[in-house]
Amino acid sequence: MRRLLLLNALIFAVLAAAAALAYYSFSATSEGTAREREITLMEELAEEKVTSLEQVIDYADSKLMRGVNLDELSADQLDRLPKAHGAAVLAIYVLDEHFKPVPNGFSARPHVREARLDPGYRTWFLDKVVPVMGMAKKKADERGHLYFTLEGTPTMFSYMRRLSGDRTFYVVVEDDLNYIIFTLFNQFFHNSDASKRLYEVRDDKHAHRFGYEFGDASNDFLVEQKFRITMDDWTLRVAQRDETGREELRRKQVINSVLIGGAVTVILAGLAVLGFAIRRERRLSELKSEFISNVSHELKTPLSIISMFGEMLANGRTKSAEQAHEYAEIIWRESVRLGRLIDNVLDFAKIERGAVYEFEDADVGEVVERAVELSGRRVAAAEMTLEADIAPELPMVRLDANAFTLAVLNLIDNAIKYAADGKRIELALRRDGDQRVVLSVRDWGQGIDPEEHERIFERFYRARAIRLKPIRGSGIGLALVQHIARAHGGDATVTSAPGAGSTFSIWLPVA
Ligand code: ADP
Repeated sequence: MRRLLLLNALIFAVLAAAAALAYYSFSATSEGTAREREITLMEELAEEKVTSLEQVIDYADSKLMRGVNLDELSADQLDRLPKAHGAAVLAIYVLDEHFKPVPNGFSARPHVREARLDPGYRTWFLDKVVPVMGMAKKKADERGHLYFTLEGTPTMFSYMRRLSGDRTFYVVVEDDLNYIIFTLFNQFFHNSDASKRLYEVRDDKHAHRFGYEFGDASNDFLVEQKFRITMDDWTLRVAQRDETGREELRRKQVINSVLIGGAVTVILAGLAVLGFAIRRERRLSELKSEFISNVSHELKTPLSIISMFGEMLANGRTKSAEQAHEYAEIIWRESVRLGRLIDNVLDFAKIERGAVYEFEDADVGEVVERAVELSGRRVAAAEMTLEADIAPELPMVRLDANAFTLAVLNLIDNAIKYAADGKRIELALRRDGDQRVVLSVRDWGQGIDPEEHERIFERFYRARAIRLKPIRGSGIGLALVQHIARAHGGDATVTSAPGAGSTFSIWLPVA
């Protein structure tokens, strides 16, 4: 009954764990989808921002370069161009088709003018920078750019091939990256308090250039977008501002993984226990059917012997008085055996239903002595001897005398049944320290394989070596003995080795 309840509880726990698991996987999926949606949104935003910013630079530079008029070239005209087109440039160079400076084709912001006019700079610009641009290969009126880092300073040139009548010339502008960073970036990637997002720009060397510094710590909600047509390999990084939300998400993830781990453990443990219970039930039902055939056999044999010899006696078919006595002896032996079997089965059934013992303080020596007396004739019939050594002045023990007698009789019966070859049975009842009284029944039979020492106390179990022999038994005797011993607060054990006989002991606590 209790086992059934436990099993039901277990099945319920497994189902609940499975349901929890299903729920978590569902919520994880929907959370994942929300996360994906948010990331996609951020990616779109990052791309849009970078594209718009680059378009502004591209548009202003292109307009400026297209605005250069070769026929009216003057420093004045060039000086005015940046403002007119809103372009952020430091210097403008106009070159002829051989990449040589055109007269009046130079303009620079006042604070860099001197540096750009320096002959060293000029030579470097014309010999080292211009050839790398590959301007001749560009389509006319199309902006190209060259970005590089010079002694740690990011530098960007935009350029364009122009046609004036049948003449080709080139315009190169040096973009003002400081302006772009401090003014344009601020317009596009401004980290306002109201915004849910944070922006950072890193340059091609991964150095922080603008905005909120995220550091390199892994961030669940971080997307990156590279610049393409201006500062090569610069990246815009966008992250979620909501630190607390992220913290909470992480906490929820930890809780979820603990709960999921718990659910999986419950399911696995539950399935293991169920599997174990099923195997046990199957083994038990096998043993039970074996038990039924054993018991029926045990009932039938003595009954047919009793009826056969009873009939002979009743019909006066005996040759002598001794033979009649012998027949009567057989009938008595078999009826005792029958009685014992029925006792065992009935008591066993009682215990299975939840036995109620009747305990009282008793003289355990007396109870054992009576059991020895009751076995006397059966021992003699098996041509064995039983020596009983019952210590005097044993303390009182709380006993159910009938149950305990049944246990002792079972041990003696087993010794008769399984150790008749050994001829000798020794029974001892002694004190063991202050707390215990120990009864032991020793025989000199074939003994029991150590592997089976525990199993012989199980219901219906019979030792393998015995099953092959024509010794009758039901497999419930020792289960009964152990149950009775434990009900008294003690236990039943065996020590034995094959060929060396066995000693069965029952210890009981002193009252
Ligand atoms: P049964 O005697 O009806 O088979 P028990 O529960 O009394 O059932 O005993 C279980 C098994 O333990 C026996 O089948 C037998 O194999 C083994 N056994 C019990 N007592 C002895 C003994 N004294 N010597 C050897 N084997 C024994």
